[in-house]
Amino acid sequence: MSLVTCRSCVFWKSFDPRAQLSGTCHRHAPMPSHLVDDTSYWPETLADDACAEGVAAASNLEQTAITLCRDCMFWFRRAGQHGLIPEHRGDLSRAWWQDAAYCARHAPMPESHVSRSHWRATHAADGCGDGKPKRPDGAGDN
Ligand code: SF4
Repeated sequence: MSLVTCRSCVFWKSFDPRAQLSGTCHRHAPMPSHLVDDTSYWPETLADDACAEGVAAASNLEQTAITLCRDCMFWFRRAGQHGLIPEHRGDLSRAWWQDAAYCARHAPMPESHVSRSHWRATHAADGCGDGKPKRPDGAGDN
């Protein structure tokens, strides 16, 4: 196993494609939160950073890539298809929440105290390397 730099990784999105200095890592889906209506900010990294979970674009033989949330079987809304109505909208617009749903890719981890978990909201245009496209027959749709 070797390190792949962010610059050459299929899960990395540069802030500026013309000058690839920094961007965001979309390798993993967000973990559940303890907060209601929590959202997800993709971690920022520098182009020269590197890790062992990256996949170099040139060696992407299995077409490993980012799944968009809107196409992902782990993206769900509890009631209907009309977006989320958050208790706390935070700094995000009403339009953002209308195009948002919860990412249920990960189960919460056990903890040393009683806790309540909430799945984080992501936007339809978000995506990550842990996603899995819905099946064409609609199985897995939420
Ligand atoms: S693509 Fe799927 S697993 Fe990844 S953040 Fe979106 S809903 Fe979660």
